[in-house]
Amino acid sequence: MGKPTGFIEFPRQAAPYRAPAERLLDFNEIYTDHDIQRLSTQSARCMDCGVPFCQSEEGCPIHNLIPEFNDLVYRDQWHEALDRLQKTNNFPEFTGRVCPAPCEGSCVLGITDPAVTIKNIEMAIIDRGFEEGWVLPNTPSIRTGKTVAIIGSGPAGLAAADQLNMVGHSVTVYERADRIGGLLMYGIPNMKLAKEDVVERRVRLLEEAGISFMTNSPVGDGSDGSLDASQLQQEYDVVLYATGATVPRDLPIDGRELKGVHFAMDFLTANTKSLMDSEHADGDYISAKDKHVIVIGGGDTGTDCIGTSLRHGCKSLVNFELFPKPPETRDANNPWPTWPRIFRVDYGHEEAAHKQGSDPRVYSISSLCFVGNDAGELTGVRTVEVEMKDGRFENVPGSEKDWPADLVFLAMGFLGPEHGASDPLQLEYDERSNYRAEYGEYRTSVDGVFAAGDCRRGQSLVVRAINEGREAAREIDRHLMGHTELP
Ligand SMILES: Cc1cc2nc3c(=O)[nH]c(=O)nc-3n(C[C@H](O)[C@H](O)[C@H](O)COP(=O)(O)OP(=O)(O)OC[C@H]3O[C@@H](n4cnc5c(N)ncnc54)[C@H](O)[C@@H]3O)c2cc1C
Ligand code: SF4
Repeated sequence: MGKPTGFIEFPRQAAPYRAPAERLLDFNEIYTDHDIQRLSTQSARCMDCGVPFCQSEEGCPIHNLIPEFNDLVYRDQWHEALDRLQKTNNFPEFTGRVCPAPCEGSCVLGITDPAVTIKNIEMAIIDRGFEEGWVLPNTPSIRTGKTVAIIGSGPAGLAAADQLNMVGHSVTVYERADRIGGLLMYGIPNMKLAKEDVVERRVRLLEEAGISFMTNSPVGDGSDGSLDASQLQQEYDVVLYATGATVPRDLPIDGRELKGVHFAMDFLTANTKSLMDSEHADGDYISAKDKHVIVIGGGDTGTDCIGTSLRHGCKSLVNFELFPKPPETRDANNPWPTWPRIFRVDYGHEEAAHKQGSDPRVYSISSLCFVGNDAGELTGVRTVEVEMKDGRFENVPGSEKDWPADLVFLAMGFLGPEHGASDPLQLEYDERSNYRAEYGEYRTSVDGVFAAGDCRRGQSLVVRAINEGREAAREIDRHLMGHTELP
């Protein structure tokens, strides 16, 4: 424990984002430079608890050794802090930027005071590690001769690839997109996670360590130019599915077919691709410039649509939420150390408030229909207020309202994985259409075929995908070698 009285002496000070007025002008990361003095003071707030709930199951899903690295940062031993961090997390530069930090919701200090700024400290350790040249490829000294095909290059696939390659297996990652990273690349936008400087920097390290990446390589039944999953199964000792939960929830109300109603991912993916290919010069994206935009649905996807629309220069922005506004503090049925379901202002909400003068979110509202003109173009959305009665939403009579809209982005979550790559091997599915495989074991119904990440558990978090990728690698190594040293 760095400073026994730190938690009494110092208040929480989270690292600030760049000011909205400045960051809205570009797609660069929203973060400010690390302030070493502040980080040292903040790490001194850690109480080095006898039972560190922050790194328990309820806190950090990969069990980062949080009190240990807090202590090392306080003592200015950054290299040692990095060593601790890399024991449990293959990609702290991703989680340090985008993780919602369930660890902080479980921080013991959080019972009486604001939690330790664990996520800021994690990000500073790994960024310092890269700056100093301490982060090296995990190149194995020997090869086992065993081969693994991984389908999907999101955080689950990449974490599994890193772990399996480290113990000497030959790993090939097949990705249908033109760039590696899954939702780290095409999903989470640049202002939250830089692509060339952060995502591709890590991919280069993985390549250097010996992992092969095949982009533009959709896996399916072999038709339409896809690679045949059955052939991969024959060629490799093991196949791991890490294909994500990519089927979006639709809103099949009148007017859904109108021009201007899009799934959030069509908007976000095209934006990032065009930005990376040509700084938007190719015009190959859905532009929100001078448009009235409505985002339906909250969560990270909704916030990212807000932040992207504002950067395009939209005319107005509204965000519909079906659920009522969350409470400012924990409800009685949401006690510590569970994840606090409270009102939060994310970067996109702050930016919208800066530009429009108020938070863009409208709560307890349901869309009745999309309204269009004779040309089949969207002109608005008709809504109704809802209230919860006996566990069901009911419309409030007389509360109908029309909102102007040129663009609507549907950000209402995801239903599960696509089945084009899994049907050829006749994988079994669970009741939510995810690939059936027990948590902790990751074996599908087909011998030698494993599944991890969002395709197994449904849409979740980057840190949970990393956890599943690591654990699936452990089980695959055990399957291949009869024993394993992997955590
Ligand atoms: C817009 C958005 C923002 C998010 N923001 C956050 C955030 O801020 N913090 C956070 O923790 N989580 C966030 N999430 C959730 C997080 O990104 C996911 O939980 C995580 O990426 C899941 O990792 P994965 O490896 O399982 O799958 P994915 O990242 O979805 O990767 C799956 C990959 O498989 C590829 N693939 C699929 N089918 C095939 C096939 N047949 N052949 C070849 N390749 C295939 C896909 O192209 C994709 O690249 C966000 C999600 C979205 C949609
Ligand atoms: S990965 Fe997420 S939960 Fe774990 S320490 Fe980092 S911010 Fe916290």
